[in-house]
Amino acid sequence: MALRLFNTLTHSVQEFVPLSQDGNKVRMYCCGPTVYDFAHIGNWRTFIFGDLVRRYLEFKGWAVQHVMNITDVDDKILKRVHETKMPLREFTGKFEAAFMEDLKTLNCRAPHQTPRASEHIPEIIALIEKLVLRGLAYKAPDGSVYFSIEKYRDSGCEYGQLVKLNFDEMRIGERVRSDEYAKEAIGDFALWKAKTPADGAVFWPSPWGDGRPGWHIECSAMSMSFLGPSFDLHLGGEDLIFPHHEDEIAQSEGAGGQAKGQHFVKYWLHGAHLLVEGRKMSKSLGNFFTLRDLLAKGFAGREIRYLLLTAHYRETFNFTLEGLQAARTSLQRLDECLTKLRELAGNATAGAAPPLLQQFSEALDDDLNISGAWGAVFEWVRDTNRKLSENALDAPAAAAALTAWKKLDSVTGVGAPEDLEVPSEITALLEARQAARKAKEFKRADTLRDELKAQGWVIEDTPKGARVKKINI
Ligand code: AMP
Ligand code: ZN
Repeated sequence: MALRLFNTLTHSVQEFVPLSQDGNKVRMYCCGPTVYDFAHIGNWRTFIFGDLVRRYLEFKGWAVQHVMNITDVDDKILKRVHETKMPLREFTGKFEAAFMEDLKTLNCRAPHQTPRASEHIPEIIALIEKLVLRGLAYKAPDGSVYFSIEKYRDSGCEYGQLVKLNFDEMRIGERVRSDEYAKEAIGDFALWKAKTPADGAVFWPSPWGDGRPGWHIECSAMSMSFLGPSFDLHLGGEDLIFPHHEDEIAQSEGAGGQAKGQHFVKYWLHGAHLLVEGRKMSKSLGNFFTLRDLLAKGFAGREIRYLLLTAHYRETFNFTLEGLQAARTSLQRLDECLTKLRELAGNATAGAAPPLLQQFSEALDDDLNISGAWGAVFEWVRDTNRKLSENALDAPAAAAALTAWKKLDSVTGVGAPEDLEVPSEITALLEARQAARKAKEFKRADTLRDELKAQGWVIEDTPKGARVKKINI
């Protein structure tokens, strides 16, 4: 079945057809982290959504080029650099490294390119020069360069492709210098910001004097440098629709590199926000969690990933610690089913494939209906457990089920084979304990059981004999 996605540009669900002539390559840009702090779980919801899109496209057979920028120059960063008096790179380096580490903890596939804004200043300046040359940007008395919305509209282009804007309220030529502003404050936005004393050592020379780029132009320059003037997918959280993405469109289409009739981006995808206990996350409310905060509470990356992947990306998601606990329980149910299937499958050759994969991908084809996809998975777990208890599955059927699961998990990324496989020293301890029991050396058997427990494993007696299970923290 064809993949259908909700495109913010057309405000409708559309069949996904990549721009590429050979039909196999997909170019995708995700707005990356602003590295001024550790990423919070709201940010992670959006990045995991990006990872889901990439993984599902790859599952469908497309060759994805995934670019995610690192915003290492913007207003928020400059403010912190000024406060901490640290050199820019030293300040951002710590958060960038943490971000990359967290990306791995959450089992997100590494983007193919992660360009830093600070390393693409020549490309950014070249793009601004093009806009100045085309009469769409101008240097203001404050020394900064602004994008003229009026000139852009006069040239026949549309400002307000993603959102509806009220131009009657706009005062022509009014300017906004800050990177973030509301719809009510539409005005000419800064492409190049002239150096101020608060910028300290963070500035670069340019044809308009020393300064630094605005946030929006960074993404236009970096995305087009890596993916060309038109590409398939651009992703971010819903807060980026305006002004960030609207301004990206204006800058990129204003530069005019697109072929006739083509947009800068064919499909714009936006993830809804995450709330905590029904409220916007904030440090003052005490409901602010970074990934690291949750790991410190004993939760695993896969449990957090699974929870953030349970809701549809266009629905606001309410995060709670009880929800995370429930996510752990669901994964345990899944793990137990997979363990039993592994025991039964042994080295058997896979038999006929179960319908699971088809149900899973039919759900995801429908604008990434992940709740439908998980519904299919847990229905399969229930069905499999029933068949296992009735001895109605043979080894080839179990092997086929595992093959299907593996393929499916290339999309969800929540599988934990290392947790499910028992290390050989643990198996040896279990065998020694069984031997001791058989020899009626109960004291020794108990000591061995305690030793296993100390290493994080409990013994479970099953009709097929004893086996070990990892204790959850
Ligand atoms: P930032 O590091 O602030 O540039 O944000 C990185 C990504 O996280 C962007 O795509 C934002 O739209 C997204 N984001 C920020 N806050 C939230 C939230 N509460 N829930 C979901 N995504 C968010
Ligand atoms: Zn961006």
